[in-house]
Amino acid sequence: MYTNEMIYQELVQICGKENVLRDEPLKYHTLVKIGGKADFLVWPTTYEQVMEVVRLKEKYQLPFTLLGNGSNVIVRDGGIRGIVMQLKHLTEIKVEGEKIIAQSGADIKAVSRFALEHSLTGLEFACGIPGSVGGAIMMNAGAYGGEVKDVLDHVKVVTQKGELKILRKDDLQLGYRTSIISQTHDIVLEAVFQLKKGEYEKIKEKMDDLTFQRESKQPLEYPSVGSVFKRPPGYFAGKLIQDSGLQGKGVGGAEVSTKHAGFIINKNNATASDYIATIEMVRKTVKEKFGVDLELEVKIIGEDIKQQQQ
Ligand SMILES: Cc1cc2nc3c(=O)[nH]c(=O)nc-3n(C[C@H](O)[C@H](O)[C@H](O)COP(=O)(O)OP(=O)(O)OC[C@H]3O[C@@H](n4cnc5c(N)ncnc54)[C@H](O)[C@@H]3O)c2cc1C
Repeated sequence: MYTNEMIYQELVQICGKENVLRDEPLKYHTLVKIGGKADFLVWPTTYEQVMEVVRLKEKYQLPFTLLGNGSNVIVRDGGIRGIVMQLKHLTEIKVEGEKIIAQSGADIKAVSRFALEHSLTGLEFACGIPGSVGGAIMMNAGAYGGEVKDVLDHVKVVTQKGELKILRKDDLQLGYRTSIISQTHDIVLEAVFQLKKGEYEKIKEKMDDLTFQRESKQPLEYPSVGSVFKRPPGYFAGKLIQDSGLQGKGVGGAEVSTKHAGFIINKNNATASDYIATIEMVRKTVKEKFGVDLELEVKIIGEDIKQQQQ
């Protein structure tokens, strides 16, 4: 048996008081600014601390959730029980020849910029993706014809049992916005990207062009999760939603963007239930009008409020 106070004290011993938050609203840690409270939010500062936290959750069989930059998740309004871990202090990025080694809490955008500074080409596609390296590996993030799979060499992970492992690109089964990590729940600690020598000006030109395209087409002025749905084979999710006349519609504070129909924005203090109800409204309408099932790209995690009160 354990009490929450015991768990808190053990987490503080591992990560330090400043890196353990109790009952922390996750709306402050997701880009869409939605989400109930985490029992414990922890920010380890070393790989050893990550492993110690994993051993602790194993010892007490605690629920455990990993959050990156929170750019592709909706946390339900009842929040998340147990430990939520974020690797936001593990942000080192280094270069070795044509390889870049990045810790998983680093922004993938920062890695892309770092590659530019070293005139290395291959990561231009990632210059506007607001995820962490860990989240980008887990999701095989991609944009404008490029994806993590094209440039990844290998990753270092901690398994859910607390073992360190190296996984080569092929071990990760990187597919369209997915990887084997969604099943194993390994924790990515660092990634090694294999890039190629390029010309600074050309790399910069490509990144500027992609940034321009992104800023002109996406509603970046509002909190969102990016594309809510995966691209259904043979269609574009945004076009189906647009042709269903759903832009500007939504539930509560959530709304299908008028700028890009594939985005649902948090327009006015939306709750997770508003956001999820809007997703369901979109799926239902698109299914009725076009017979297409929209599959979620975004991950919905945590408990709803009713479930929590029972
Ligand atoms: C405005 C906007 C634009 C976007 N544009 C794009 C785009 O162009 N292309 C694209 O692919 N995505 C895009 N996204 C979605 C999102 O940025 C990516 O999916 C990103 O890779 C998620 O990374 P994250 O760190 O935010 O992960 P989170 O959203 O925090 O988590 C996503 C998943 O990754 C897991 N995870 C996080 N860190 C780790 C780790 N260290 N080890 C193992 N698993 C981990 C989490 O457990 C969770 O299951 C966009 C999002 C927004 C808000």
